Amino acid sequence: MLVVQKYGGTSVGSTERIRLVAQRIQNTIARGHQCVVVVSAMGHSTDALVDLAKEIADVPDAREMDSLLATGEQVSASLLAMRLVHLGTPAQSLTGWQAGIATEDVHGNARVTSIETARLRQLIDSGITPIVTGFQGIASGNITTLGRGGSDTSAVALAAALHADMCEIYTDVDGVYTTDPRVVQAARKLTEVSYDEMLELANLGAQVLHPRAVENAKHFAVPLVVRSSFSDEEGTCVVAITEQTLEGRQVVTGIAFERQVARIAVIGVPLQQHGLATIFSELASHGVNVDVIVQSVVDAAAVDVSFTVHEPDLTKAVGIVESLQDSLHFARVERQSDLAKVSIVGAGMISNPGVAARMFVTLRDANIAVHMVSTSEIKVSCVVPADDVERAVKALHVTFVEADAEASLSEAESAVK
Ligand code: ADP
Ligand code: ASP
Ligand code: MG
Repeated sequence: MLVVQKYGGTSVGSTERIRLVAQRIQNTIARGHQCVVVVSAMGHSTDALVDLAKEIADVPDAREMDSLLATGEQVSASLLAMRLVHLGTPAQSLTGWQAGIATEDVHGNARVTSIETARLRQLIDSGITPIVTGFQGIASGNITTLGRGGSDTSAVALAAALHADMCEIYTDVDGVYTTDPRVVQAARKLTEVSYDEMLELANLGAQVLHPRAVENAKHFAVPLVVRSSFSDEEGTCVVAITEQTLEGRQVVTGIAFERQVARIAVIGVPLQQHGLATIFSELASHGVNVDVIVQSVVDAAAVDVSFTVHEPDLTKAVGIVESLQDSLHFARVERQSDLAKVSIVGAGMISNPGVAARMFVTLRDANIAVHMVSTSEIKVSCVVPADDVERAVKALHVTFVEADAEASLSEAESAVK
């Protein structure tokens, strides 16, 4: 088999950890497989690089920022290759561009556009294990990065381009759980999760996989597994259809949350102004991502529009909206920070009415205010106060995961009797 293995920051967080990763790679090769390895930067070193840049400039130049951040992965890749060579296993570190990874010509959040695999193939065929820096590529001769957490995407893209038999994401938890196991102790590890559900969970804040990694895995049907580099536990397989999604048996598969949410409300936009089109086009052209949008009709002549943005974008977004006041003639702009978003995700929701109601009842009983709601076929999201987010996740986990599991257990028990 040709296996792509990706090791995250904690997994290569020290030289001790890098030695263990080298051993795991050797074991994989000893079982007769060929390996391509993708690594993240050591521990929190990318954060440290971001902090350094902030000491130099308030808004660091985007090209230089990518050049800087890409160095983190070079450290871990060369140390890991060095360790393997030391142990007598041929290996070579490659930066994104050396590995042939081309991206869009944008900085900070570039998408992979193509991978020229000749050099990788040559190495693999000569029995040399490529150790590729994650999170980066090249466009117009410049280093680009794929967005925070983007090494997962590098790994899946390489697995797709090389037609690998498996892409293994090694991290610091032993799989995908029903929710972040660091927040809810009772979280359960999922044996399988579908691409669609995983994509929603990742987009809604479950950090364990980069959303675009899941998107690519689905598109190119890459067999993907998330597992721990700290143990030999079996991980979670991300697959097209699971037993649970097949008949929509499990209503809620997982709960995700996102912190640092802020809300902006544009009050009294005259109806004839078509405010939505202008406001959101202007925000988009300035690169501000908008999430939940609610428009409510106040009276026959005006509407209120509220939407959420990532908290660090709040000041910029408010400035953009305020600059439209003269042309749109709205009454005023309001802002609210210190919010968070909690979401329940499950393919079974399509055929199970009343899921949103159960969510609202759970949050009401926990005395948690719901500021905004947004739904899709397989998720319901609520914007809640930031201070309440962990309580919300725990309460929803009890309602939708722990209680449902107990119910199916007692159903199974009575069936046996
Ligand atoms: P890596 O550095 O290996 O890429 P990340 O920190 O990006 O690791 O992702 C792993 C973390 O994701 C876990 O430590 C866990 O706290 C968090 N996480 C959030 N939601 C989930 C979930 N549903 N299942 C597993 N882990 C999750
Ligand atoms: N080192 C990068 C980050 O911290 C990429 C990654 O870890 O996936 O975001
Ligand atoms: Mg990650």
